[in-house]
Amino acid sequence: MNFESSLSFAKKMDENDPLKGFRSKFLFPNFHKNEVRYFTGNSLGLQPITTRKMIEEELDDWAKFGVEGHFSARRPWYSYHEQLTDLSAYVVGAKPIETVVTHSLTTNIHLLMVSFYQPKGMRTKILCEKKAFPSDQYAIMSQLEFHGFNKDHLIEVGPRAGEDIVRHEDILKCIEENKDELALVFMGGVNYYTGQFFDLEEITKAGHKAGAIVGFDLAHAAGNVNLSLHDWGVDFATWCSYKYLNSSPGGVSGMFVHERHAENTALKRFAGWWGHDKEQRFLMEDKFHPIKGAEGWQLSNAPILGMAAHLSSLQIFKEAGMERIGSKRDLITAYLEYLILKVSKENGDFLKIITPSSILERGSQLSILFERGGKKKFDLLSEQGIIADWREPNVIRIAPAPLYNSFEDCWHFADVLSR
Ligand SMILES: *Cc1c(COP(=O)(O)O)cnc(C)c1O
Repeated sequence: MNFESSLSFAKKMDENDPLKGFRSKFLFPNFHKNEVRYFTGNSLGLQPITTRKMIEEELDDWAKFGVEGHFSARRPWYSYHEQLTDLSAYVVGAKPIETVVTHSLTTNIHLLMVSFYQPKGMRTKILCEKKAFPSDQYAIMSQLEFHGFNKDHLIEVGPRAGEDIVRHEDILKCIEENKDELALVFMGGVNYYTGQFFDLEEITKAGHKAGAIVGFDLAHAAGNVNLSLHDWGVDFATWCSYKYLNSSPGGVSGMFVHERHAENTALKRFAGWWGHDKEQRFLMEDKFHPIKGAEGWQLSNAPILGMAAHLSSLQIFKEAGMERIGSKRDLITAYLEYLILKVSKENGDFLKIITPSSILERGSQLSILFERGGKKKFDLLSEQGIIADWREPNVIRIAPAPLYNSFEDCWHFADVLSR
């Protein structure tokens, strides 16, 4: 598509946007003296207007029913999580039996690694991307140490010297080279720092060919990029709901366990009563019989208020449709990229976008690396009402969220940047 840099062009794009009606379903921050242009849906998504009502209904039912709400609330708490299953499965391309919403993200990373990182003999190593999100690094290192290993058992694939993103061929090569010692490939689906979307299908194939298990942290992928976890054969995955999925700060997390493991009794797991066979849950038996599929990894009964926030947001994703979200994501991100590069070119090339330019290798995040003075520029942008995200040493991350960002938002970003 041929973009133009005028404000009238941005307005025309907004008029023709099939998702334009969705912007008004969200609450925009109003703490600033200027109108806020929100570009941090990759960090904390905005609040859907329906979320307050959804949570209030649970508060009302709690007030009205007390403990009876488990069965008598309008959305009974006993089976509350089940209402989120189909919707979550839809967002990540999974079957319902492969999906559950429960706990928080890092907790789920640990629970899934207990099951899917089972070092044996020579096969002890974990492969991940260099500069993974810190929580993932800590989780992986502590899992290695839990099994008596050290950082020699961690293989990190990073960009080549002088490059910013990881070459796909280097990931595949690294898997192949370590095929005798690799127990697990566990990477971010979209890297939080560069916005690089890895080829999850090929990585899964390569991992399996090497005899390893393959899992992904989809914190920056779920609700952002189009996923087909089932068809790609991914063993397991987990994601948070509060970034692209707009489901409240620190909100609940989703889990994916491939159908092929639904009844795999060879998998060790840490168990809790909510993962126990539903028919027998209240018999309070001694022995644990896991529910078939992802639900069997649940430990605890669901935190209803957080689940309510997630439910209200997932309904919006379903209504908008992942296909339409994906089309707008690619269009608006390319438009923002065009504007930023134009401003840079007209001002002595003072920045570089390190996120891949191919739409197959990114979602809606653009990571801008400044030659110098990035922090000062970031502060000036903030002063004007642009909400972006600063990462040391010199990167600003921005993400136009297809559900609520407009082309005009992007135009304003570029306008402030040029000034
Ligand atoms: C946001 C994020 C987290 C945060 O984990 P919580 O347990 O939700 O605090 C972890 N990993 C990745 C890759 C993230 O992007």
